[in-house]
Amino acid sequence: MVAATPGVAAQSATPQLASSWRTVEVHLVRRGGLHLALAVRTSRLHTLSAAEAALLRLSPPITLSAAQARLTPRFDPASVAAAHARLVERELLVPLDRAEPGPLPRGPLTRLELGVAEDCNLRCPYCFVSQGSFGGPRRLMPGAIAERAVELLFVESGSAPEVHVGFYGGEPMLNTPVVRQVIEDATSRAERAGKQVHFDLITNGTRLTADVVDFLRAHRVPFSFRSMARRPSTTPFDPMRGGRAPIAKRPGRWPGSATTPPCRGGRRLRVPIRRWTTSSITCSG
Ligand code: SF4
Repeated sequence: MVAATPGVAAQSATPQLASSWRTVEVHLVRRGGLHLALAVRTSRLHTLSAAEAALLRLSPPITLSAAQARLTPRFDPASVAAAHARLVERELLVPLDRAEPGPLPRGPLTRLELGVAEDCNLRCPYCFVSQGSFGGPRRLMPGAIAERAVELLFVESGSAPEVHVGFYGGEPMLNTPVVRQVIEDATSRAERAGKQVHFDLITNGTRLTADVVDFLRAHRVPFSFRSMARRPSTTPFDPMRGGRAPIAKRPGRWPGSATTPPCRGGRRLRVPIRRWTTSSITCSG
């Protein structure tokens, strides 16, 4: 997104041939003293003066004289004229008779992001998705839904040579059977279609067993750990649930060995992923 300059106080020299105007599709937001407009079509974020924001809130048809009459005495007529000119210049106001643009062109679908688990086995106090539940009931994606999603991806990807499947949550590995199913299904569909399929997975690491890691490795699935390792010692209570802690990244030793950060009482756990050898492990936080 691009932030444009704030509204100006002086009247623009832009010629205004039309007499009636309408706003383009915008979302208006006020944050503190700041007025913002997100133009939907262009995805551009504009900062506005108060007069510009007030003008964009008027119903069409918008004429300059009517706007000046409506917005006085909040804004003097010269300020309204300057705001009007600036909005025309930035194409936030367009002539009333300008045709609506057609729908955005639809390209092939090449990326699928599957929230396979709206649940998590941890309860991190800083979680921004309500400890995995997204504020709703905790649930796992059924295999049939995941299968339909993969099918849709391959149908809608058309002739695109590559597709991408990402796994998110919550904690996606609470739904390991469906993660496995999707990886196997997408891999075999890609082979049949002559496409390449790429995966990625973000996990808190607590459900990674040697078996799961071997599976991910065999299917070339890179995964990222959330950076919870730093957090437990800085939070007033233990975010763990069920006696296990997230995996910690140990500089200089990762991925040769891994231990958990201290649980309550200072105990650390070793985790069975010592054979993982890839450079694709990243820390996402
Ligand atoms: S591991 Fe992630 S999803 Fe789970 S509670 Fe912690 S921050 Fe939230």
